[in-house]
Amino acid sequence: MRILIVEDEVDLARALARGLKQEGYAVDIALSGEEGWAKGEINEYDLVILDLNLPDMDGLEVCRCLRESKPELLILMLTARGRLEDRVTGLDRGADDYLVKPFYFEELLARIRALLRRDLRARQPVLRAGDLTLDPATHVAWKGKRRLELTAKEFAILEYLMRRPGEVVSQEDIIEHVWGENVNLFTSSVRVHICSLRRKLGDDAKHPRYIETVAGGYRLLVPEGEGNETPPAFW
Ligand code: CA
Repeated sequence: MRILIVEDEVDLARALARGLKQEGYAVDIALSGEEGWAKGEINEYDLVILDLNLPDMDGLEVCRCLRESKPELLILMLTARGRLEDRVTGLDRGADDYLVKPFYFEELLARIRALLRRDLRARQPVLRAGDLTLDPATHVAWKGKRRLELTAKEFAILEYLMRRPGEVVSQEDIIEHVWGENVNLFTSSVRVHICSLRRKLGDDAKHPRYIETVAGGYRLLVPEGEGNETPPAFW
């Protein structure tokens, strides 16, 4: 899951980014309204945390513009303005939720989880590929009936692959979507995580059943006749 923080208070933006990364989210920061709008337009985010008081372009305006071009983007407004009319205006302009500063980080996390869960359940309840099942909303994955104990990065890589079954996904794509932009990361890091993911899946790189190494990246193998449509029987 990739999140954009639009916040002009640098310390707060960095603290939020640090906390969210620890939770396994890929995070980018925009320090002004215009930068937030530009990044929101260019990149694919699952959720935007949007401050209302921004120096160059008001958060409400950013919200309206983003909402016009990306109707499905989740927007959580974060602001010191707690007056009722501001909350109403924010929601009317297309924000999905609203949190008033000062707030507890735990509450922000809970609201993000709730928004993503609501959204993901609506769009795609669970992902399936062969005997693999992954629930993006609860961050749980299974192989058959066995629950997989994955790290946040392994889970994010598996989710990214399972959203593109049978497609070749490059290491750069994985870095961008799992770690976020502007990371100084060698593709060898992706290899290390793929390797541990394979081990947990009981997969063999030479004779892969799940993750195949191909020229230019990786591909999630999908058994004949298997798709993403049917939810698991125990769900
Ligand atoms: Ca501000």
